[in-house]
Amino acid sequence: MEVTLLGTGDAIGTPVVGCKCETCNDGRNGGKSRRYRFSILIKSNNGSSILVDTGPDLKWQLIENDIGHIDGVIWTHGHYDHYAGFVEFHRIQRKVDVYGLSDTLDYILDYLYFLKPIRHDVQAYETFNIDNLNITLFEVTHPPLKKVVGVVVVENGKKVVITGDTCANIPKKSMDIIKEPDVLIADAIVPTGFNVQKHMDAKQALELSENIKAKYTVLTHLSHYFKPHDIATKEFPLGYDGMKIIV
Ligand SMILES: [Zn+2]
Ligand SMILES: [Zn+2]
Ligand SMILES: [Zn+2]
Repeated sequence: MEVTLLGTGDAIGTPVVGCKCETCNDGRNGGKSRRYRFSILIKSNNGSSILVDTGPDLKWQLIENDIGHIDGVIWTHGHYDHYAGFVEFHRIQRKVDVYGLSDTLDYILDYLYFLKPIRHDVQAYETFNIDNLNITLFEVTHPPLKKVVGVVVVENGKKVVITGDTCANIPKKSMDIIKEPDVLIADAIVPTGFNVQKHMDAKQALELSENIKAKYTVLTHLSHYFKPHDIATKEFPLGYDGMKIIV
């Protein structure tokens, strides 16, 4: 499969409106610090295109990555930066299959009441298929929300783990199923030294990578508190918008 990071920013993205910090300026001037909001594209070996979350910048993410059709959407949780862009292609495509926990689907589809996608309620830890991708949602910890998941995607024995938004104390049952992925895409909103409650910092994300023995790790959901991308990547394996990972 092929994984594309469509958006590697946090809830407000980089540049931040009104901010003139070094990182935001790099983003504004065309550097890799420009980060759209969260969305990940997974293309199966058969060519199906699945989105994990649909952040508010989706229109330009689809255009810049030349994506014309979506075969399924998985929502990790009901935060604005993870679903608000759904409208951008639903209006063009109409019948879109959407997957998530019942609570998450209830919340998002209430907000998007004027749209009628094809709803698939999924339980955490129960594997389902889209095309030949085997997908399992696993519970994570992202207060104050109670039902939030990450996503495991397996195709032909290759395993990708996307933590979604989570802090470091991921439930044991989830830790057991995310072991030894070929690729780990981990939430790391800030470098070290910040007090974060709802997300991991970069050090915690790298500890998780070590604990589960990930073969390859990339950090996402990044804020402007990281140094400009080209400097920060000397220290941390940061993703960037449009980054492709062949698994
Ligand atoms: Zn988020
Ligand atoms: Zn800034
Ligand atoms: Zn969130």
